[in-house]
Amino acid sequence: MFNKILIANRGEIAIRIMRACRELGIKTVAVYSEADRSALHAQIADEAVCIGPAASKDSYLNTKAIIAACEITHAQAIHPGFGFLSENADFARLCRTCGITFIGPAPEVMDAMGDKASAKKTMISAGVPVVPGSDGIVPTVEDAKKIAAEIGYPVMIKATAGGGGRGIRLAESEEQIEAQYIAAQQEALACFGNGDVYIEKFIVDPRHVEIQLLADNHGNVVHLGERECSLQRHNQKVLEESPSPIMTPELRERMGAAAVAAAKVSGYQNAGTIEFLVDRDRNFYFMEMNTRIQVEHPVTELVTGIDLVKAQIRIAAGEELGFSQKDIQLTGHAIECRINAEDPRHNFRPCPGTIKSLHTPGGFGVRIDSAAYAGYTIPPYYDSMIAKLLVKAPTREEAIKKMRVALSEFIIDGVETNIDFQLRLLKDEDFEAGNFDIGFLNRKNIMGE
Ligand code: ADP
Ligand code: ADP
Ligand code: MG
Repeated sequence: MFNKILIANRGEIAIRIMRACRELGIKTVAVYSEADRSALHAQIADEAVCIGPAASKDSYLNTKAIIAACEITHAQAIHPGFGFLSENADFARLCRTCGITFIGPAPEVMDAMGDKASAKKTMISAGVPVVPGSDGIVPTVEDAKKIAAEIGYPVMIKATAGGGGRGIRLAESEEQIEAQYIAAQQEALACFGNGDVYIEKFIVDPRHVEIQLLADNHGNVVHLGERECSLQRHNQKVLEESPSPIMTPELRERMGAAAVAAAKVSGYQNAGTIEFLVDRDRNFYFMEMNTRIQVEHPVTELVTGIDLVKAQIRIAAGEELGFSQKDIQLTGHAIECRINAEDPRHNFRPCPGTIKSLHTPGGFGVRIDSAAYAGYTIPPYYDSMIAKLLVKAPTREEAIKKMRVALSEFIIDGVETNIDFQLRLLKDEDFEAGNFDIGFLNRKNIMGE
């Protein structure tokens, strides 16, 4: 096992990783930007190293400074958390060259999964269902027209190098395809330096349901059930839960088996997630693989009892999983609400500022992952998420009630937050009935104003 791990991240996920390290008897090194001197992660780590100015590109994305921090503190491994360098294959390669363990999959696998058109081909070879579409890159508008006519409109034109919702365009008919093809290509070229696009059928009002995986370096792969992530605003997840309201034991078994097959065919190691789109008839299609720990991982921890971050560290150290699929029991229902410093009444604009006072909920079945404290000033440079509030109860109905109570106890003074928005969502009839898809929060006026 490692003696010391450097955490190349900030905020609640840095704290989350530190807790796992401490339970495993591992020393921690925090890195922080000049804007994060008073951030909790920099305060409570065993050692902390300033890696540069506030802007992420000069600090949390500054690979040279992070590697140097690792070398001066003699940390043996780097945990990248999510965002920042977590899906950067070049950084994982740099760690390898420097003899530092990157806690995540091999850079070759990250590369392979980062190219969406080729990832799709890999999935087809493993028998994983994918959205019907082109066989790889579509080189010209004429090809695009031919393929779209074959699969039928509406179609999505997608950048193979895409991410963060960029380089994706919808074409509803043949009249639109030329303009949308060119728009997707140009955006992809501008954002990713690669204009290659592919085409797939547009799935109408799908759900986003993802499967959590753990894979060790000894060929053991298990899935830990699903997370329902359809409640999103402009592709940003707002609330996640497990089980999904649409799940059946039979569907979970098929989706889980597909995810495990996907991990095996790609030689995947460590924690990862396969995102699926699920249509109204419960057909599911591979969308993408996230080669990192995710924001919403505690939802799965609550229903499985497995500490995913400790598992990541153990896997990276070469240990075996120590359990198999039949040992994984899903119990109860878990919900996560992302608490952001943002103003739902003004188009969710971020609201950095100083937290004057803070009262957090508690009690049986309530968990908070956060790096906020009273007196903390949220800097304007990074993500606006300040806490994740989770509950677990025997049933979905009870979990909803528990979450309403917890949200109503949560008091953050000094900055605007989305707590009231979350509370209204928890009281929405369609939410309560489990009746929503990925477009739900973009269509519905939750604040009712
Ligand atoms: P996830 O898929 O991990 O649940 P989202 O899909 O909401 O997270 O986040 C969208 C992207 O933004 C993710 O790919 C992640 O890399 C990045 N991201 C999310 N939260 C943070 C954060 N706190 N800091 C940096 N990057 C983040
Ligand atoms: P990114 O890497 O940018 O997140 P994704 O492939 O995950 O790209 O797609 C982003 C979002 O676009 C998805 O979360 C989903 O809402 C929507 N989307 C992507 N492909 C399709 C499709 N074939 N049909 C309907 N919606 C889609
Ligand atoms: Mg995505």
